[in-house]
Amino acid sequence: RVELAARELSGLGVRRGDLVGLFVERSHSMLIALLAISACGAAYLPLDPALPKERLEYIVGDAFGDSPRRFVISQASLQERLPADLCAGAIDLSWLLGTLPRANEHSALEPARGNDAAYVIYTSGSTGRPKGVEVTQSNLINFLVSMRARLGLSRQDVLLAVTTLSFDIAGLELYLPLCTGATVAIATREESSDAATLAGLLARSNATFLQATPATWRMLIESGWQGADALVALCGGEALPLDLARDIAGRTKQLFNLYGPTETTIWSSIDRLPREAREVTIGRPICNTRMYVLGPQRELLPLGATGELWIGGLGVARGYLRRPELTAQRFIEDPFAQRAGARLYRTGDLARRRADGRIEYLGRIDDQVKLRGFRIELGEIEAALRTHPAVTDSAVELCEFGVGDQRLVAWYVAADGHAIDDLELRECVARQLPEYMLPSAFARLDALPRTPNGKLDRKALPSVGAAARQALFVAPQGELELGVAQIWRDVLQVEKVGARDRFFDLGGHSLLAMRAITRLEARFGVRVPARDLMLQNLSQLAQAISERHAQTREPAPPAEARKGSGLLGALRGLFGKPPPEA
Ligand code: AMP
Repeated sequence: RVELAARELSGLGVRRGDLVGLFVERSHSMLIALLAISACGAAYLPLDPALPKERLEYIVGDAFGDSPRRFVISQASLQERLPADLCAGAIDLSWLLGTLPRANEHSALEPARGNDAAYVIYTSGSTGRPKGVEVTQSNLINFLVSMRARLGLSRQDVLLAVTTLSFDIAGLELYLPLCTGATVAIATREESSDAATLAGLLARSNATFLQATPATWRMLIESGWQGADALVALCGGEALPLDLARDIAGRTKQLFNLYGPTETTIWSSIDRLPREAREVTIGRPICNTRMYVLGPQRELLPLGATGELWIGGLGVARGYLRRPELTAQRFIEDPFAQRAGARLYRTGDLARRRADGRIEYLGRIDDQVKLRGFRIELGEIEAALRTHPAVTDSAVELCEFGVGDQRLVAWYVAADGHAIDDLELRECVARQLPEYMLPSAFARLDALPRTPNGKLDRKALPSVGAAARQALFVAPQGELELGVAQIWRDVLQVEKVGARDRFFDLGGHSLLAMRAITRLEARFGVRVPARDLMLQNLSQLAQAISERHAQTREPAPPAEARKGSGLLGALRGLFGKPPPEA
């Protein structure tokens, strides 16, 4: 099917070197489309259907530029959300994977080569514009070959894939099983975001590998998941707290901490953490990868000294698509390498190398943060806020509200000195940025604190408390509404919860949602879907609970993809020879 789909794409004009947008939900068919794109020699561009229209349009415009060669694969159920200028030429996924051999069966394919791009992934940009990281086939192959050796997957293994394609680590979940003979079980977006469903899927699919961010692991554990003896836990994407590491390691066969920026291809270092771990490090580099802790003059620092982490080797991506200046700022010629053309990527991470070669992660040197695994440049949210006509200045911070409970808080200065309605500000940001970048609270200041040289003085920003919310208050009524309100108050740690409030608007995020869902279920015997909890107001949710009382929803079985003869051809092309050890 991969080959047929590839020939079909080729018949539609997709050629080696092209970029193909993928605007689809996660499924087995998505994986076939990914392989087919590669088999045509093209690269894919994930377009997450959950993104707001403006951001999708920006990404499409930036990625394709003026090129008339705009290919996008979509599906009927998402057609309405497709950016307007792509509608006409969009290729329908089910049509593409139709089983009947078609006229293009014999069209020639020119598979990708090492230096061709494999994918372009957009990440948050500090100046307000997201940037596309261009990763090559050989970057990806080096990563897969390395992880295959390190993790030792085999035909008996089952990996449960839970990550959105627009996060590069989905590449491990989708391709590593295919190049080791293991099985990949693909969970849908809904299944991945609900702890109980995820725990059920882990058991039913007999998963032996699960890769997730610390937030997802915490969500699972907080929901009461007891663990699985045969499961290898892969955790990465942001710092792994020691307590969580112990909780995961105590419930699974093995735990690995994985570290790496998108710019050096998925993961660059790995560490195995024992059950009785007393510290968490990001370990040592994967194959053909070098990590350097450098000082301000780019000089090598001695063991134990804190400096910036730079990464070199075969994982270093080509750079930012169509952004040569930005690429030159972050990717430099590698002064330590013998290989001609080798480059180093500047991570912005603070680190220290220990005597045993392991590397400790110590935080960031800039305003990039991680929230539930998502990479966010605070400057991008600040820029989005400043597009509001009455906002003259803005600052956004990630504040800790409790264990595993971090929220974004925005401060702004208004042109006429008056406070602007929170909802209006939220809508302004929501039009431009993904949901995970929306501040939970907004607070007005007369002026932002500045250092003597005019830079924002983040440390001098006031503390905002649980919420800086000024919504119209309608008191909850009746036993059900009052009961839901009490659970929200406890979980969100806010003093007042109104009948018209939405969980999300009160600072609720996916982890808190899981806590609330568990408590609502315990109290009312009804399991509410996370999406309803986030988007309905309290009164609507109470109504839904009363309607659904005693009803239970059976989750759909996972879509499964197994390595077989149909995929072999494309896989051979993809995972040809391992790159030589540098
Ligand atoms: P991304 O490009 O989304 O993969 O984000 C990369 C950044 O996430 C890194 O530069 C680190 O700041 C952070 N990060 C990723 N994995 C880890 C980890 N295991 N421990 C600490 N920080 C991490």
